[in-house]
Amino acid sequence: MIGIIGCGASGMLAAITAAREGASVTVFEHNEKAGRKLLATGNGKCNLTNDNQSPDNFRGDDRESIGRILDIFTKDDELAFFREIGIVTKEKRGYRYPHSEQAASVVNALVSEMERLRVRVIFGADVTGVEKDGDSYVISYTCGGKASEARVSSCILACGGPAGERLGESDAGFRILKKLGVPVGRYVPALVPLLAENKHAKTVSGVRLEAGVTLTVSERDGDVSEYQEHGEIVFTDYGVSGIPVMQLSRFAAVALDRGGRVTITLNFMPEYTAEEVSEEIERRAKGEHFSNRSVEEALEGLVPGKLRYAVLLRAEVDPVKNADRLTDREIAAVVSELTAMTLTVTGTRPFANAQVTCGGVALAEIDPQSCEVKSMPGLFVTGELLDMDGNCGGYNLQWAFATGAIAGRAAAKR
Ligand SMILES: Cc1cc2nc3c(=O)[nH]c(=O)nc-3n(C[C@H](O)[C@H](O)[C@H](O)COP(=O)(O)OP(=O)(O)OC[C@H]3O[C@@H](n4cnc5c(N)ncnc54)[C@H](O)[C@@H]3O)c2cc1C
Repeated sequence: MIGIIGCGASGMLAAITAAREGASVTVFEHNEKAGRKLLATGNGKCNLTNDNQSPDNFRGDDRESIGRILDIFTKDDELAFFREIGIVTKEKRGYRYPHSEQAASVVNALVSEMERLRVRVIFGADVTGVEKDGDSYVISYTCGGKASEARVSSCILACGGPAGERLGESDAGFRILKKLGVPVGRYVPALVPLLAENKHAKTVSGVRLEAGVTLTVSERDGDVSEYQEHGEIVFTDYGVSGIPVMQLSRFAAVALDRGGRVTITLNFMPEYTAEEVSEEIERRAKGEHFSNRSVEEALEGLVPGKLRYAVLLRAEVDPVKNADRLTDREIAAVVSELTAMTLTVTGTRPFANAQVTCGGVALAEIDPQSCEVKSMPGLFVTGELLDMDGNCGGYNLQWAFATGAIAGRAAAKR
């Protein structure tokens, strides 16, 4: 019998693939339902995968092994699998969703296929440990307050990471692996909002706008790297959020974990050069259309009002002073705040607010052909427990489905 811990994205793919190969499968799931996190994905629409398969969207220390795994179960294999069980997709800017745009359709289709294949799922089963005993594995779990054990010939750890803790996730998988003696690398939250020092956070909290975002990471050894994104950001009382910030967050989290320094630089007028912005501010300071206006009034229309106010305070310009009294130094400071507002990043929001875990089991520990732990035949690791964190856009689910399918097939063959 194959025991699978976790009835989430990778666990369900593993169960279906193994059962299709004729294996007897039992899934242990601590929630009362399958795929609770899956239901929350893509704002309830479930972004399954993406037509843009550039390797840059799949991040981790071992890019070669990531590529090998994704070549075994490709995006097209995933789409064909879902079509087979009734999920045709809708494409939006390359992002793939179920045609119903309901994550529940994906979960229901997976559950129906598991039922058809007579996969046994024990809900409310909280797995507390796995031990190797000769050629088999003993899974210890509690269910309804009662402690039980199950002996299996192969065990697939598909219990995800601590990201999205509000959905009942935990780091149980990492703890189980460590106890088994499988090395687990450091792990941090990713696809997560950033905490940033901002004296004017209260003023700008809630402001949303398009911005160019540059994350600068200075490592302790003096190495400096820059990462860039563009899109809608949101100021919050703790720092900054929005898709471009989330995309860059894993670089910040890793660097801060290593003791590095991180800043985030926001360009609120990325369509213009700094010279063009400077000319525009000078025109407003000196032009007749703006005479007798305060600086704050003269900057109307460039960025939302609350942000305009914060820009002036940060540039040390009195917002009520007359625009025609702006000095060259002040104009330069305002331009700098509009095109390169730089905030020190002090951390990330916790795992509960993250979409994925960055780090975990190094891919060197597993055979990419099977996701089997090299030092422990019969033990397989999938999904978020492995060292791959994808960009926003369906890459994390694609990874979960691919590793689940590969592990399920290999466990059944074993
Ligand atoms: C809010 C949110 C939105 C997201 N949106 C997207 C998106 O649109 N597209 C995308 O690609 N990715 C998205 N992700 C990421 C994606 O959901 C995960 O990367 C993916 O689900 C990981 O799959 P997994 O199988 O490793 O873990 P999971 O899907 O988390 O499944 C793990 C399962 O194991 C169970 N479990 C855990 N511990 C135990 C235990 N001790 N005993 C028994 N069972 C246990 C859990 O209850 C869970 O059912 C999102 C994540 C979040 C939090």
